[in-house]
Amino acid sequence: MSTFKELGLREDLLNAVNDLGFETPSDVQAQAIPILLEKDTDLVALAQTGTGKTAAFGFPMLQKIDIDSRTTQGLILSPTRELCLQITNEIKLYGKYCKGLNVTAIYGGASISDQARQVKRGSQIIVATPGRMKDMINRNMVDISKIEYAVLDEADEMLNMGFYEDITDILSHTPKEKNTWLFSATMPKEVSRIAKDFMRDPIEITVGNKNESTNQVSHEYYLVTARDRYQALKRLCDANPDIFSVIFCRTKRDTQKVAENLIEDGYSAGALHGDLSQNQRDLVMKSFRNKQIQMLVATDVAARGIDVDDITHVINYQLPDEPEIYTHRSGRTGRAGKTGISMVIVSKSEVRKIKSIERIIKKQFEKKEIPSGIDICEV
Ligand code: ADP
Ligand code: MG
Repeated sequence: MSTFKELGLREDLLNAVNDLGFETPSDVQAQAIPILLEKDTDLVALAQTGTGKTAAFGFPMLQKIDIDSRTTQGLILSPTRELCLQITNEIKLYGKYCKGLNVTAIYGGASISDQARQVKRGSQIIVATPGRMKDMINRNMVDISKIEYAVLDEADEMLNMGFYEDITDILSHTPKEKNTWLFSATMPKEVSRIAKDFMRDPIEITVGNKNESTNQVSHEYYLVTARDRYQALKRLCDANPDIFSVIFCRTKRDTQKVAENLIEDGYSAGALHGDLSQNQRDLVMKSFRNKQIQMLVATDVAARGIDVDDITHVINYQLPDEPEIYTHRSGRTGRAGKTGISMVIVSKSEVRKIKSIERIIKKQFEKKEIPSGIDICEV
């Protein structure tokens, strides 16, 4: 359809696009980039996970800021430490030919004075989680009074996680005349409220029909008795020996337990949840990205937005309370044009939840049987 060049990107950024191997802009990029480059406007963009939102705001931000200045001009807020680091890395790749560009990641669980030192060096762009950002503002470690572009990434998730107050507090330290760009997969009431209270006549874009990105994903459910849940999980893994999967549990405790059991039973698994130290989390993410482990057992919060290529299966070991969360989970697979399978293990009492999820994803689940057979890893 269009090319990145036609969207109006500068030469140095086009070279980075080229290095990244992005051939054509995704829908959200094709819509958002020209608007953000040409207009001085607020923007609300609704697009599912995996649709390329980071580049949709990252490139325009890089093109618009003054890289010769050391003033912090761009602020990107994102819900988790993992996402914050992911976005920071992406922006650095996009800006690899922007000489003098400094991007700083600000997030909890790491040395605040190190981060303050990095900011002091003169970061044109800060990518932050709301909690740590607020902390640094309160301690006068960062100056965001000259921000020209503020991005609220994964706005629905930030609000889900209870960051409303932190976000409004942070925004109150930024100039009124800035542009705010809000990106979200869904538009619950709280997101509209942020848009209404903190943005001026935002241009709204919605990408495709909302199912488009989930079209690559087929949805299956497996009915089991509650006490067979773990056994069922193992059977599903055994039936798919090349599986590369995120397994979602509801609590940190279940997450830890399922991962431990899988490891004990000889599977290649790791746990990701908020009770682990940052070091442990980094380590498990690294081995998952490198495909040293096949199964990442995770809580919703810890795995939110994580962009790992080639995830073949998402397994809902337990369903989330909110059906909307399901779309975030299943969005971990079927990315960048690939196909993926989202599996749900349910007991009889939960099977009605499938219906409410179907209404949200506007797709039907296929009811399947747990594959039978001897578990490979059982002695
Ligand atoms: P989202 O924030 O919407 O979930 P991301 O920005 O994390 O999506 O992008 C998802 C993946 O798609 C990333 O691996 C990114 O590098 C890749 N990607 C983004 N834009 C393009 C493009 N135009 N062509 C190919 N791959 C892309
Ligand atoms: Mg994203």
